[in-house]
Amino acid sequence: MDAIIEQIKKKDPEQREFHQAVEEVVKSVKPVLDRNLEYRQQSVLQRITEPERVILFRVPWMDDEGQVHVNRGFRIGMSSVLGPYKGGLRFHASVNLGIIKFLAFEQVFKNSLTTLAMGGGKGGSDFDPKGKSDNEVMRFCQSFMCELFRHIGPNTDVPAGDIGVGAREIGYLFGMYKKLKNEFTGVLTGKSLGWGGSLIRPEATGYGNVYFAAEMLATKGETMTGKRCLVSGAGNVAQFTVEKILELGGTVHTLSDSSGYIYDERGVDVEKLAYIKMLKNIRRGRISEYAATYPEAVYTPVNPALTYNPLWAHQADCAFPCATQNEINGEDAGHLVAGSVRLVSEGANMPTTHGAMEIFLDNRLLFAPGKAANAGGVAVSGLEMAQNSMRLSWPRAEVDARLKQIMKSIHKTCLDAAEEYGSPGNYVAGANIAGFVKVVNAMLDQGLV
Ligand code: NDP
Repeated sequence: MDAIIEQIKKKDPEQREFHQAVEEVVKSVKPVLDRNLEYRQQSVLQRITEPERVILFRVPWMDDEGQVHVNRGFRIGMSSVLGPYKGGLRFHASVNLGIIKFLAFEQVFKNSLTTLAMGGGKGGSDFDPKGKSDNEVMRFCQSFMCELFRHIGPNTDVPAGDIGVGAREIGYLFGMYKKLKNEFTGVLTGKSLGWGGSLIRPEATGYGNVYFAAEMLATKGETMTGKRCLVSGAGNVAQFTVEKILELGGTVHTLSDSSGYIYDERGVDVEKLAYIKMLKNIRRGRISEYAATYPEAVYTPVNPALTYNPLWAHQADCAFPCATQNEINGEDAGHLVAGSVRLVSEGANMPTTHGAMEIFLDNRLLFAPGKAANAGGVAVSGLEMAQNSMRLSWPRAEVDARLKQIMKSIHKTCLDAAEEYGSPGNYVAGANIAGFVKVVNAMLDQGLV
């Protein structure tokens, strides 16, 4: 198995995030391969770590001053054995092939855990939407879709949002797809409610994250009530993670963006959360403005000289990283443990480094990996696809009940798989094993294609 990882590193040495994601899964599934010789004979690891397809394209667009810019567009179809490729689009300056590949790889196992019929894919661009006008974002989205449209479809590949891609971007992307294909289909999820979106889709990742955390606490006879929580990020996942924590009686003391973080000892309440939503979703402002509006909060800008993030050094019971990959390193994990945090639930994808994860597992924290804890988003995207196919929309309470049930079932699946393969209580092993077995069995059923 070490040889497989070495081979992957040699083939694409610059794709560090992809290596990290593969190493975690390979380590977890070793006992599964040891018990099932056919998996080794059929080279399932080599097959599952090579994308079915990688699409890389030029995205030219013009800014409001008439200047031409060129970005890179990506879409990776990682596995289609369980259904059409499904996974978000990320627009962020840091996007490259290795990041999209790690996200596509994670998505395969996550989608498998939801039990819905979805394969795994991911895409995006190194376009940075920050500071761009609505017209510039629209022109970029239209140009992006002018190439992407030939590779996707409701039965082939169904993209959604991710960092930098929310309702506004999905609208512009959908409009261009519809014009080019001359058809109105459920080709994207995360659509606005008035034209095919699902109730609870915007809330789903954050709500699901907290439902999962509540399930973990329940195994210890505890609830979210009175729990002090640290949350990072201030976007879609962070906002609805905060909303559900407050609903379940917890308190939230931090939020962040890529410029810095706020600490509010009195807590982010419902009114302050409404301000955050307006600030981030409508005004598209910076989190520093929170401290100007609520002087009881302290804003700390990012200090590049630090080797840790001070957000994670505050005392709390629970931590919900909801910004981006590798935002908690070993030092941060040490601070969290010292600050008496007992639960970490990943709203973001792979926000914890290997070293930090080892510290959480060694200290027996309740630790939920993103592919389980943030699967609620793609699960409700799956429900959006089902509603689009039926040309029906389900009421809010029905979608929320299904989301809650799916998170409960993922939690149980992880625990059962971890127990069966000798790592009781280890949600990382459980999520990787359960997700892997289902995908690999489907792959073998469908032959060498
Ligand atoms: P948004 O774009 O809505 O918000 C992202 C937030 O994280 C922003 O506050 C952003 O700050 C911050 N952020 C992004 N990059 C960095 C960075 N390099 N350093 C510090 N902060 C950063 O994205 P989402 O909330 O949708 O996504 C957040 C995470 O959740 C991602 O890992 C995503 O893959 C994952 N996820 C999202 C799902 C969804 O349904 N949206 C589903 C499952 C997982 P700034 O504005 O300054 O960039």
